[in-house]
Amino acid sequence: MLRRRHVAAALLALAAAYVAVRLASGRDRPHVPTYGVMGSPFGAPVAYQTCGFHTGQDWFAPTGMPIFAIAPGTVVYVGPLWMDGPGVGRGPHAIVIDHGGYHTSYSHNSVADVRPGDAVQRGQRIGAVGDEGYSGLPHLHFEKVVAPWTGDWRQPFAGCQGYTDPGDDWGWF
Ligand SMILES: [Zn+2]
Repeated sequence: MLRRRHVAAALLALAAAYVAVRLASGRDRPHVPTYGVMGSPFGAPVAYQTCGFHTGQDWFAPTGMPIFAIAPGTVVYVGPLWMDGPGVGRGPHAIVIDHGGYHTSYSHNSVADVRPGDAVQRGQRIGAVGDEGYSGLPHLHFEKVVAPWTGDWRQPFAGCQGYTDPGDDWGWF
C-alpha cells in the first residue's frame, strides 16, 4: 500500500510539474486569436484580395466564439474595414491593435467589445467571431502587420509588404 501511494504521489507531482511547465511556456507565446481551426493560411494566392495573396490567417469557428488579443497592446481602431468598398471587406466590427512594433487585425466579427484607446492584455476577449463582410462561413480573418496603421479604414496599411505570417506557435492559456 505504502509503495502504491508513493507511486501515485510521484505521478501526481510529475503531472503537476508538466502542467506548470506547459502553462509557463504558453505565457511566453502569443495567445490563440480564437478557439477555432486555422484552415486557410497566410500567403496563399487569392484573387479576392487586392494584394493577390491571403494577408492573414482564417480561423474557422462558430459565430459568437470569443476573439482574444494575441498579445498586450492598445486598440487603435474599431469599425468598418473595407479595402475596396462595402460588402467586399472585413465587416463593420473589425478591430486593429497596436502592439508596439507591429499591429494585429481581427475581421468579420459579429461584435466588438473594445473601443479605440483601450489597453488590452494577452488573451483578453475583444469581440466575437462572425460572418460579416466578404465571408462565406463564420470565421476570423486574423492579420499581423509590421507596416504603420494609416488611420484610413479603406486602406489601413499602405502597400502589401507589411503583412507577415502570424505563425503557428500559439499558447492557448
Ligand atoms: Zn482571410
